Amino acid sequence: MSIDVPIERPIRTTLAGSESGAREARLGSVTGYCGSLRDLSAASGCGGPKDRDRCYTQASLCNSACALSLTSYIVDAAIVHHGPAGCAVTAMGVANSKDQLAGALGLDNSRSGYVCTDMGESDTVFGAVDTLRDVALETYRRYRPSAVFIGASCVSGVIGEDLDGVARDVAEEIGVPVAPIHCEGFKSKIWASGFDAAFHAILSHVVRPPERTRPVVNVINFFGSAREELTGIFAELGVEPLFVISNTSVEQLSRLSESVATVSTCGTLGSYLGSGLEERYGVPYVRSLQPYGIAGFTDWLLGLGRVLGKETEAQTILDRDRAACLPRIEEVIPKLRGLRAVVGMGPGYGFNTVRVLRELGIEIVHQAAWHYDRQYDDGRSPASFDVLADGAADYSFSVSDLQNQEIVNILRRTRPDIYFSRHPGSTVWAMKLGIPALCIVDEYHVLGYRGLLTFAYSVLDVVTNRSFTENLSRRVKLPYTDWWLDQNHDHFLAPETPGATTDEEELTGV
Ligand code: SF4
Repeated sequence: MSIDVPIERPIRTTLAGSESGAREARLGSVTGYCGSLRDLSAASGCGGPKDRDRCYTQASLCNSACALSLTSYIVDAAIVHHGPAGCAVTAMGVANSKDQLAGALGLDNSRSGYVCTDMGESDTVFGAVDTLRDVALETYRRYRPSAVFIGASCVSGVIGEDLDGVARDVAEEIGVPVAPIHCEGFKSKIWASGFDAAFHAILSHVVRPPERTRPVVNVINFFGSAREELTGIFAELGVEPLFVISNTSVEQLSRLSESVATVSTCGTLGSYLGSGLEERYGVPYVRSLQPYGIAGFTDWLLGLGRVLGKETEAQTILDRDRAACLPRIEEVIPKLRGLRAVVGMGPGYGFNTVRVLRELGIEIVHQAAWHYDRQYDDGRSPASFDVLADGAADYSFSVSDLQNQEIVNILRRTRPDIYFSRHPGSTVWAMKLGIPALCIVDEYHVLGYRGLLTFAYSVLDVVTNRSFTENLSRRVKLPYTDWWLDQNHDHFLAPETPGATTDEEELTGV
């Protein structure tokens, strides 16, 4: 199979260095913004938007948790988290789901494990690299993993522990890859920086140069729930999907460089690994909308078909699905048309969801993104954002790192017919306000025509079966005062200060 995709723009991953760095510094990403989609687009075209700090913020997710939970799902890798025990709460979060997923797929993950060095007060004064080395060696002795990832924490980062040096020494001793993951929580307010840190470690220490090309397409996703459906679709294009990185082995990851293409189901998730594989090994990264709804699935599949030289086959799949599902989708659209929605999600999935909702005739009254990347690692702005910004209707837009206290203000002010989120902890606040909400947990819920049909009926179910939400809201006392609820959601955002530097800029000097 011949692949010829020129790289048209400068590539910007930081593969040559020891760490990927924070998105704020690398991509100009922000966590504080309040305005409209069009204004955001205009600001992005002029090197902005400028990040806005908050004078009040609730806890959000740390990028260390993001990086290490992602790598925890590799079936034969061990994680050594160099930090206080509290940081390793991530292990508890993934323990059940990783075993259940591996069990459902018949995979043996008994060589995976998550341990912590349990740094204490004296370690913060005297350092603990000897402990780290001992724990890494003991972890290898107990689990016999095919790779060990050493995860950083704020504490190990603040005192400047030499994770790279320990990783190098231990790798020499045990003979398997030992990869430091530089995911110190304080370095970025954007938890997606943790995806990049994990992928940087995999690209730098696990992926090997290709020995040959295989008819495999890397699918960068979270949990691969559409495994069966995509395997069937890809077979018609003459390739097999390799769903990364959950439920893969270190051996499979080491051969990502031998695949004929990479696609992703979330631009936020896929940017660093997709661009990195292209930059270092020439594996084409298909830059398209994500495969949700009609426009997304069409762009995604034709984009892959083009790279594989299988556009005709891709079009045949699209025509077949369209014929099977579109009439049934059109039956439900009149029941959804005119509904008013608020969307609160990460930017990658959120922009795609807004586009899908518009395909169903649903009006967007506000979108809250948990951060905003004005560009990805190839220097281009996200395709899913450009499509919306170039479209007809503008709407109110804000960026917050999952600040639910602001979401409550937005929901109370806009009173939408439905709230869409991907995080249950956010969804529940809409329901407490009496607003029906749909939590799109499964990343493939709206995959293609079939997914759009299922999704349309899910939305209809939620807006027509309101009794649970209404009962809940009648019985719940909100923890907010009337004063709070009367504020606009940007109340605690500091004004933009021209020329001011963000924390990250001060930290990194960028
Ligand atoms: S790495 Fe930092 S932000 Fe993350 S859990 Fe540990 S102390 Fe908290």
